[in-house]
Amino acid sequence: MKLQDIQLQTPYLELDAEFYDLTEPEPLDEPYLISFNEDAGKLINLDSQTKDNPDFIAMLNGTFSPKGARNFAMCYAGHQFGNYNPWLGDGRASNLGKLGSWNLQVKGSGETLYSRMADGRAAVRSSIREYLMSEAMHHLGIPTTRALGIIGSKTKIMRTKTENAAIVMRMSTSWVRFGTFEYFHYRKEHVKLKALAEYVIAESFPHLKDDEDRFYKMFCEVVERTANMIASWQGIGFNHGVMNTDNMSIEGLTIDYGPFAMLDDFRYGYICNHTDSIGRYSYGQQPNISYWNLTKLSEALPSLISKERMQKKLDDYGTFIYPDAYVEVMRKKLGLSLSLDGDGELVEALVVALHDAYVDNTLFFRTLSHYYGNREALYDIAMDPVVVDNWLKLYDVRLKKETRSQEERQNAMLRTNPKYVLKNYMIQIAIEKAEKDDYSMVDTLLNIARNPYEELPEFESFAGDTPEEYKNIGLSCSS
Ligand code: AMP
Ligand code: MG
Repeated sequence: MKLQDIQLQTPYLELDAEFYDLTEPEPLDEPYLISFNEDAGKLINLDSQTKDNPDFIAMLNGTFSPKGARNFAMCYAGHQFGNYNPWLGDGRASNLGKLGSWNLQVKGSGETLYSRMADGRAAVRSSIREYLMSEAMHHLGIPTTRALGIIGSKTKIMRTKTENAAIVMRMSTSWVRFGTFEYFHYRKEHVKLKALAEYVIAESFPHLKDDEDRFYKMFCEVVERTANMIASWQGIGFNHGVMNTDNMSIEGLTIDYGPFAMLDDFRYGYICNHTDSIGRYSYGQQPNISYWNLTKLSEALPSLISKERMQKKLDDYGTFIYPDAYVEVMRKKLGLSLSLDGDGELVEALVVALHDAYVDNTLFFRTLSHYYGNREALYDIAMDPVVVDNWLKLYDVRLKKETRSQEERQNAMLRTNPKYVLKNYMIQIAIEKAEKDDYSMVDTLLNIARNPYEELPEFESFAGDTPEEYKNIGLSCSS
């Protein structure tokens, strides 16, 4: 499909006017393409020549509107670092409409009703980070929003220093957040809250549409999807950094990439967001915080669903829904095809061992994927091989109970444990080059992100231990 043939729908605008603010994009000066993502383009049937079509840049910049497009920012509220903020919303994003199941949105397109005191813009740096990481997460099989392309410009914005502004076009099957429900609940707008729930069911859970018990079942699905998302974050070693309820997707997607990080050395208490002084959103806290966030969602829904039923589901989240999802993710990482009693304990022992061994998280699992009884390779990558050795004794016992061959196990593990993840130091190299107008590394990393399980000899250095000076550093929220 060509851009001129796109026909967008805007079902969200059928909701009450309080749900959104109609926006006028404020174009950037001298926009140029940084990267076009063909994979995401295929989802909406865009042909690969789109990259060379000047209207693509214009579409991201707001000077070309596809047919049917109407720009709007969505309102929401949210609990930020534990405190309720009744007035958030898309402060710098503008939705264009929906193509098939994909809601297209530009981020960094200028001020909206919800910008509060901020400028509605996004820095090149943070835009490249979101663009690359959302694609990397997708190719690792983690539920996430996607990114279609990114443009840079000569428009200057003030952050800790003067930077150039960029715009990313993001795509998601839903942009509704836990905080969207909170917004209407705390304003006591229960009719609008119900309309929102019906919208979410139509958009995200259409199989529940005619179900009399659909609101409760919607809540259950959100709980289960959140469990799967968090389990996959914990498995891969992803730290989101700002798990406020406005950054929690009702579809259980990873959204709003800010100061995120992939773990370098496995540190349970690692905090990627350096403004998070107490580690509320540290890597190890993510499961607890997801429970807390789901509780906040439940507190916004009593006009639709009985509190007792929601509480029962939340209790289940803590006792088995999340723990089972996590152990399942880890079983796959360990190449265990059978589900046996004691697997949870094996995983717990592994977490302690990884922490004590000071070992690179990605490298450990990839090396383990080649494990055949010879432990040298694993000793070599750990600071404390004795800890690794003790855990491997447990692992050996468990492997003996498996019925599939070593080779089958290894093959499955090599398709589960990536050779490459986008660590922050790698993205930083792309950003530093971009600051000198060299965007080649963005496409290079996009390519690596698309092939996380492949052996790519030319990028071998990115598969190793993170250089010491870059390990587990914190990032600022300012973007
Ligand atoms: P975040 O936690 O980064 O997802 O953002 C929290 C809120 O701040 C959201 O409502 C954003 O839209 C808004 N926001 C962040 N940066 C800006 C900006 N530069 N201009 C306007 N709003 C912003
Ligand atoms: Mg956000």
